[in-house]
Parts: sequence; structure tokens; C-alpha cells
Amino acid sequence: MTNFAIAIHGGAGTILKSSMTEEKERLYKAGLIAAIKAGESILSKGGSSIDAVEKSIIELENNPLFNAGKGAVFTHSGKHELDASIMNGSDLSAGAVAGVTGIKNPISLARAVKEKSEHVLLAGQGALDFAKKVNHEFENEDYFFVELRYEQLQQALKSNSIVLDHTENIHESGEKKFGTVGCVAIDKTGNLAAGTSTGGMTNKKFGRIGDSPIIGAGTYANNATCAISCTGHGELFLRAVVAYDISCLIEYKNLSLKEACQIVVMDKLVKIGGEGGLIALDKFGNIELPFNSDGMYRASLKENGEVFVGIYK
Ligand code: ASP
Repeated sequence: MTNFAIAIHGGAGTILKSSMTEEKERLYKAGLIAAIKAGESILSKGGSSIDAVEKSIIELENNPLFNAGKGAVFTHSGKHELDASIMNGSDLSAGAVAGVTGIKNPISLARAVKEKSEHVLLAGQGALDFAKKVNHEFENEDYFFVELRYEQLQQALKSNSIVLDHTENIHESGEKKFGTVGCVAIDKTGNLAAGTSTGGMTNKKFGRIGDSPIIGAGTYANNATCAISCTGHGELFLRAVVAYDISCLIEYKNLSLKEACQIVVMDKLVKIGGEGGLIALDKFGNIELPFNSDGMYRASLKENGEVFVGIYK
């Protein structure tokens, strides 16, 4: 029997205390705590890490404060194209969806791809056809409409920029925030799992896909090494194959989780301008929450332990 542990993130970026109100901070923290508790309720009863990861991410997808599910950012054409992935560390099974519209909980659809199809990654219309086949829950456009996200799109359209951000004041302050959500967990049997879900970038075009639905880049889990979920500038996280790189440093170089995270997040990503962070959990239950941005919405919880919740550096 191992001790269970779980960590979640709600995005990274230029998250400064000076641009946060007390009320907003309270709401973000409450959202993170509700999500991690949802996962804990499964793990404490001996449930599986993959169930805990899915449940925690559903909480975050249903919370409009985070850029995933309800609250996802708008694309250039005023839609929401959602990406998600999930991976099980015991057998390296994985499922992912990219560029899906109208899906209430993309993380559950990613899990259905893993368990009810012979594929790993389904995109666009094909993924929607699959969703109908497995009776996945759909929502209409109104469900995904969030005023703040709509204003962000209007700003981005005005400046003709593709915005890696979901805050109101990016243009005045240069503030960047990546609101993707993710979860990593280890259950009492020592099984690791990881998942990530996102709306991507405001004003994204041409079917742009980031790192979040890509196994090895935004998400990875392997019982022999670790479980990882990333958030940040997707293009750079793709190029650095971030999640798998951390696993490789542990597997092939015998580095600790802490050392591997330090090299990838604080050195390799920084060198190519890859702003963001990740949550990581190894087979011993060690947790690392590194980020090279000003902040990252994050929380972690160990068996018999207190919940840690953090936003700023
Ligand atoms: N990594 C995500 C993407 O590029 C964005 C985020 O983390 O918020 O789509």
C-alpha cells in the first residue's frame, strides 16, 4: 500500500497580487480546493488515480474561472475549440481529443477515447461523431459564453493578436496568463495518472492545437517514473516535449523529480522562451509544482496532510 497524493493546476502566467482583488483570489482558491477535494474523495476510499484525475478536472472544467470547458477562451471565429488528454501510468494507455466544440467535459471524452476506441487522439468532427456514439454530454454555445472571455476576444481582434492569455488587461500591462487545468495523482496501489484540459488561446485560428492534448508534451504518466500535466505557451511546450522529457531524465539519468523539473522548467524552457509551469508527482508520492512565470494557480494534497494552495511565486 502506498500513500495517495494529488496535485492540480489552473494555469500559469503573469499572475500578480497587485492585479488581483481579494474577492477574486478567494474565488480562485475556493475553486482549486473544491477540485482537489473531489479527487481526494476518490483516492481516500481506495479509488483509482485515473478516476481522481478525471473528477478533479471535471470540477475545474465546470468552473468558469478557468480556461477549460465552461469558461474556455474564444477562437477567432467566436467559437470554443477544446483540447484534453488523459494517461494511465500502469499500462501507458492514453486518450485525447483536440479542437472539439460543444463538449461539456472534454476530459471525459478523452477518457472515452482511451477506453472505448482503438485510438489515442481524435480531432474535430470525427471526435464529435465518436462523442455521439458513446453518448457524451453536449452543451450549446450559450453554455460556453462567459462575458470576460468575450471581451478578451474583442480586445484580441482589435489588436489582431493571438492571445496566450485570458485576462482583461493583457494589452495595457503585458500580463499573460495560461488558464489550462490539469491534475496528477497516485492512488493507494501506487498507480500514477495525469490529465490536462484547455480552451487554448484567445483568437486562435486555423485549427491551432497546443501541447495540452499531446501525450508526451502536455501530459504524461508512467508508473516507473512520474505523472506530469503542463500549462504555458503551448508551442514551446510542444517543441520541448516537456512532460516526457521529465520522465526520461528520471528513467535514463536517474535524476530525482525535483532535479528533472528544475532542468526542464527553469533551464530548457527558459532558454527557448517557454513561459509556464507544470505539476509533477513521482512514484514515491513526491510532488513538485515548478513554474518560470510570475504565478501558477496550484494546489496539492498528501494523505493525512493539509491542502496546499498557491497562486504567486
Ligand atoms: N498550454 C495551453 C495551450 O497552449 C495554454 C495554457 O496552458 O493555458 O493551448
